[in-house]
Amino acid sequence: MTQSFDIIVIGAGALGVFHAYHALKEGKKVLLLEKDKRAQEATVRNFGQVVPSGLIPGSEWHEYGRIATALYKELQEEFNIGIRNNGSCYIAGTASEMAVLEELQDKFKSVDYTSELWTKEQLLAQYPMVQTDYAAGALFFPQEVSAEPEILIHRVLELLNLKFPQQFSHRNNCPVVDVATTGAEQVSVSTADKKTYLAAHCIICSGREFKLLFPEIFSNSGLIVSKLNMMATYPQQNTVLPGNILTGLTIRRYESFTACDSYYQLDKADVPQDCIDYGIHILFKQRVDGSVIIGDSHLYAPIADQDDLSVFYNDLHINEVMLREAKKIMQLDNWNMAQTWAGFYAQHEDEIFCHSLENRIHIITGIGGKGMTTAAGFAQQSMRKILAL
Ligand SMILES: Cc1cc2nc3c(=O)[nH]c(=O)nc-3n(C[C@H](O)[C@H](O)[C@H](O)COP(=O)(O)OP(=O)(O)OC[C@H]3O[C@@H](n4cnc5c(N)ncnc54)[C@H](O)[C@@H]3O)c2cc1C
Repeated sequence: MTQSFDIIVIGAGALGVFHAYHALKEGKKVLLLEKDKRAQEATVRNFGQVVPSGLIPGSEWHEYGRIATALYKELQEEFNIGIRNNGSCYIAGTASEMAVLEELQDKFKSVDYTSELWTKEQLLAQYPMVQTDYAAGALFFPQEVSAEPEILIHRVLELLNLKFPQQFSHRNNCPVVDVATTGAEQVSVSTADKKTYLAAHCIICSGREFKLLFPEIFSNSGLIVSKLNMMATYPQQNTVLPGNILTGLTIRRYESFTACDSYYQLDKADVPQDCIDYGIHILFKQRVDGSVIIGDSHLYAPIADQDDLSVFYNDLHINEVMLREAKKIMQLDNWNMAQTWAGFYAQHEDEIFCHSLENRIHIITGIGGKGMTTAAGFAQQSMRKILAL
């Protein structure tokens, strides 16, 4: 017998899982379908830095980040989803980067978003592992959190199973191969193992997978894909990094800083050419086991050419450049790498790609490099809009 649901969600990344969560909160019966054994794309390969501070103060996306941060904290109170309330620290490496941090603090004050500006001495007192000749000062956001991406989404799924046992069904290893409306009222969803499910709405949060469903819509979508090189050290014996650490190259990259006049005074000549070529900025995050994630770089391709982004190898030269820059900023007691990997995300110039068919099939992807920070908040209003149709 064909099973029926209120909502079917395709893709168990951050966007899919949090659309499912918000539908469940509204009392809906939800089926979530994931093609892999466990979700293993951008949502589990990322840094786990939940940083609304990287988004323009007071903007819609900054607000989604604030909503998501509050939701992560709320869920963590109920169940260990791997959220740590340990703040984000942007470290300036030059006086001109410090000027941008000062201006950004004022902008965040005007939208009641707390931060602390630290002098070089204050920074080194809090973070003695930062290289003294790099440190110019810092801006610290105490309310921000970090996640363990390898576990977060799987733990949220466990929590949904516990909280909503009657309403929630979830299948892994289940690629969806067809989605179509059937009459005015329903959507039919077919999986590779030849099962069919029905629902009032289907939400497709398929990340960077563009070949299985609606390739003709994606080919004209304007979406592009970014490949990021990442690495992680062996567990540190002595070094303890307090929270999310972002650096001078990040100040030149994250969108929030573009709201500052002083951002446009930054000297491009301060940035090594290979960092520009490979889209490198340096971030650090220590995992619970003591290892430190270091990244990242950005190479881009239109979706039709994403297979050309060296999907089967990582260019070690890019990792060497990242390591060179990381060592200018940080002292670790162990720089040996235990893991390197690549992550990929889709992005769109409109911040996200949303496309609905007959008000029943809703394609939502391309949230870019901000999905761990914002997806849970974005999905709340997105789900409300869909349920109001
Ligand atoms: C290396 C890296 C570092 C990052 N760091 C951060 C960070 O620190 N902070 C931050 O805010 N953001 C970060 N991001 C961005 C963030 O990870 C992404 O924005 C977010 O995870 C995207 O979520 P998603 O649900 O759209 O996609 P995905 O996580 O890609 O999920 C899509 C899912 O859909 C499934 N799927 C696809 N097609 C089908 C189908 N036909 N049937 C069934 N299942 C299907 C896939 O298997 C996949 O599990 C980073 C990203 C990367 C790659």
